[in-house]
This record gives sequence, structure tokens and C-alpha cells, in this order.
Amino acid sequence: TTLSRHFSATSLAMAPISKEIDFLVIGGGSGGLGAARAASSRYGTKAMIIEGKRLGGTCVNVGCVPKKVTFNAAFIAETVHQAKDYGFSLQETAPFDWSTFKHKRDAYIKRLNGIYERNLANDKVEYVHGWAKLLSRNQVEVTLDDGTKEVVNAKKIVVAVGGNPTAPPAIPGADFGTNSDGFFDIDTLPKKVVLVGAGYIAVEFAGMFNALGVETHLFIRYNTFLRSFDPMIQETVTNEYERLGVKVHRSTNLDQVLKDEASGKLTVHYKGAKGEGSVADVDHLIWAIGRTPATSGIGLEEAGVKLNEKGHVVVDQYQNTSVENIYALGDVSGEVELTPVALAAGRKLAARLFGPAEFKTARVDYTNIPSVVFAHPEVGSIGLTEPQAVEKYGRENLKIYKTNFTAMYYAMMDPNQKGPTAYKLICAGPEEKVVGLHILGLGSGEMLQGFGVAIKMGATKADFDSCVAIHPTSAEELVTLR
Ligand code: NDP
Repeated sequence: TTLSRHFSATSLAMAPISKEIDFLVIGGGSGGLGAARAASSRYGTKAMIIEGKRLGGTCVNVGCVPKKVTFNAAFIAETVHQAKDYGFSLQETAPFDWSTFKHKRDAYIKRLNGIYERNLANDKVEYVHGWAKLLSRNQVEVTLDDGTKEVVNAKKIVVAVGGNPTAPPAIPGADFGTNSDGFFDIDTLPKKVVLVGAGYIAVEFAGMFNALGVETHLFIRYNTFLRSFDPMIQETVTNEYERLGVKVHRSTNLDQVLKDEASGKLTVHYKGAKGEGSVADVDHLIWAIGRTPATSGIGLEEAGVKLNEKGHVVVDQYQNTSVENIYALGDVSGEVELTPVALAAGRKLAARLFGPAEFKTARVDYTNIPSVVFAHPEVGSIGLTEPQAVEKYGRENLKIYKTNFTAMYYAMMDPNQKGPTAYKLICAGPEEKVVGLHILGLGSGEMLQGFGVAIKMGATKADFDSCVAIHPTSAEELVTLR
């Protein structure tokens, strides 16, 4: 539509956009929504949020949410495959209709977009659909959908514009590939895919494709993936992907991509530790080599806001930028690029700026943030990896507890169906304070949150041991480590 779409707080009818506002938030993703809604609903601040795409940002539209739904589909595919070991006579290659699934997933996301819009209205946040550009520390120009431009004066401005998938390296044909945004547009089940990257996204996508029966090639630059995780996780999960049938091309880079115009299929050429080769008949090549902050073209430099060499907005621990009245949070500030972190930062900032005196030093604690990779199997991690703990405390001051075992779920299965479970607890000092917890295996995604609370509270190994085990679970192994 070319209509200027923006909504007043009290009705969904068109209303003129406010020219004076107390709190102007650029970006309607997790961080921006958290900040604007808290400012308005909790502290009565006159707040406006400006979003140029769909409400909810990366997480809701092209990230966590549709990813997790796809992960669930992959999980069901695996379960169907495993069911015969429990005596079910299901067809092993249960037909999976990707198109039906994709359209249902899209409809779910659309519902969420609507819920987010209603939440803003309920919280009396003025929602403007358009593109914002900073003019100064107190002024923002908004280009509405019909092309008209308005200038809004704002007492305080938050930049929460997030990021985009990093562009592929400059090799011939790289642009024949897509990225994580494009992943969510795929509307038929591919036969063969190539993924490049070694982080959360590449590993999650590769695991899901493989579980859904797609021939999956994963190209990584080094010998393992998830290299920011504990070595136990890197090694176990990279090996497990190979066992599951993912073609992991270790220490290998693509050097050319060709496209057959008639069929649309790609051929990727690579060079690596094991020599050169190619993969032909590829339906999709997906680059997942990191994300880049969306900081260009929104007037940040002009307003004097300092960016670092990667383009992230430089902020202090209170989300202050180098310019008074301008704050930044979420992926654009590059701290820890996770939705709940952005949401917490947004709420804390609103509390600090507009809340009662007790919140004057409110800020997010960026230590001990738990995170999960929805890999196959799921991976959970909080605190320091073993190498980080050694560096911080010295090997002699650490006690490391490890276990690996076969989860009871697999007891009924063929040996070649059994997935790994491995846990590591890193404890420091004479009191054996838990400074790192790393888990992989069935259910790890749901397990980590509770252990995260304990670690955040400063739990020691003795505290873990004092909690009676829940039997039979995998998690019980974490309170019985010797
Ligand atoms: P990451 O930063 O996690 O990983 C990207 C990795 O790709 C790099 O670490 C690097 O690993 C590799 N890489 C970089 N350049 C190249 C290249 N030219 N060729 C091949 N490989 C390359 O980014 P993602 O895009 O996976 O995810 C972005 C962020 O989004 C994550 O860091 C995470 O914070 C968040 N996220 C969180 C999820 C969750 O919580 N479950 C899910 C998805 C995303 P190496 O150095 O080993 O080559």
C-alpha cells in the first residue's frame, strides 16, 4: 500500500503523527518494543516507535520464532523415524509437506505481528510505520510509507535497529546464494542445500534440513563449528552432525558458485584441507557467516554517534551512546545478540530514564547469560568455557566435572540411532563455585533455564549436590557428578 499507515494510541484509525514526543524508539524489534512499551505502560511516558518493516524484528519474523517452529518440525521427523524402535509401525519416510508447513508458519508469524501491534495500542505507544533518520540529538526525520517526510522532536531517542545477515565474501557467483532471511522464503522442500558458516544459524539450519531428509552440505573454515562454545560442544556436535549424515566440509571454503539458468540449480566449487571439489544440483546456497549491524543510512554519523570498527553503536553499560539523549541497545550495539538480552536492555533503560529513583542505576547484567543452540542435539551453555576459565582462574584453581552417557530414550534403539549426551560443570576456587555449565543432548534447551537461575545466584558444586535427583531424567546427572 502507498497509504501512510500509522496509528494513534487509542484507535487504529489514521491519525497525524505527533511532532513532539518524550521517548522515540527507532526499531520495532524485541529491544525497541521492550523499551517503548515499558516507558509508556509502566511510567506513563509519551512514547513513539518507528518501524519500517514488520513489527517484532528479526526474532519474530526471520529468526527465533519461525526457526523454532521449523526445529519442531524437524524434531517430529526424527521422532517418526525413531518410532519403530518403540514398536510403532509408521512409514519411515513420512511425507512432509513443506509448503503446507511453511504457509502455516507464515500465518502464525502474521498473527504475532498483529498481536504486537495491538500490544502497542494497549500500552498507548504511538506506532509509526516508516523509516527514521536522525537529524540531531533531539530530532528525527520519518519517511512515511507514502513518501512524505515528517520531523519529530524527541527528548530522548533509542536506536534499536538490529542487524542484517552479513554479505557473502567476494567470490564469483556468491550472490546466487541467499541468507537466513531467504531461508524463511523457501516454499518447497529442497533436495540438496549448501550452508556456509559455523555459528548458531548455520548449525541450526543444517541440523533441521538434515532431519527433514534434505541432502545437507555444511562448509566450515576450521575443523569444528560453534567455536565460541566449550571444546566439548564443538567436538561432540561436529562429529555428531557427520554421524547423522550432514556432509561437513571441514577447513574448506567456497571459491566459485555457478548457476544453471534453465534449472535454477547451483554448483558450488570449493578448496580445502582435503583438496578441491564441487557440489552440483544444489537447490539453495545459504550464507550464515554472521550478522552486521543496520547502522548505515540512518544519520548516526551525522548526529555524532560513535560506531566501532564493525559498525556497532558504541554504548556503555547503561546503553548510553557517545551523544547525550541518544541510546542504543540490542543487536545494533553488538553486546550479546539475543532477543531476551535486547528486551531486558530496553526495559532497564526505560526504568532508568523514566522510572522511580530506585531504578536510577538499572542496567542489564551481561554476565552469565544462558543460551541454547537448537542443534541436533540441542546445546546449552552458560558462563565460562573451559579455556576461558583456565585463563581467568588458572588450571590449578579449577575442578571440572564431566560426564557423557546414552539417554534412556535411546535404550530401545539400534546402536546406530543413539545420539550423544555430554555435560560439563566448571567449578572455581576452594568453594567450587560453578562458573561454567555446558550441556548437549535431548532436552538441553529446556534444562538450562533452571540451572541458569542457580548459577546466577552463585551456586556451588555442593549446592548442586544438595538437590535431590529427579529420576529418570538426563538432567539428574548434573546433580550427581563425581
Ligand atoms: P555467528 O556469529 O554465531 O557465527 C558466524 C560464524 O560463521 C563465525 O563465527 C565464523 O566461524 C563463520 N564465518 C564467518 N565468516 C565466514 C566466511 N567468510 N566463511 C565461512 N564461515 C565464516 O553468526 P550467526 O549468523 O550464526 O548468528 C548471529 C547471531 O544471532 C549469533 O551470534 C547469536 O547471537 C544469534 N542467534 C542466536 C540463536 C539462538 O539463540 N539459538 C539462533 C540464531 C542466531 P569460524 O570463525 O569458526 O569460521
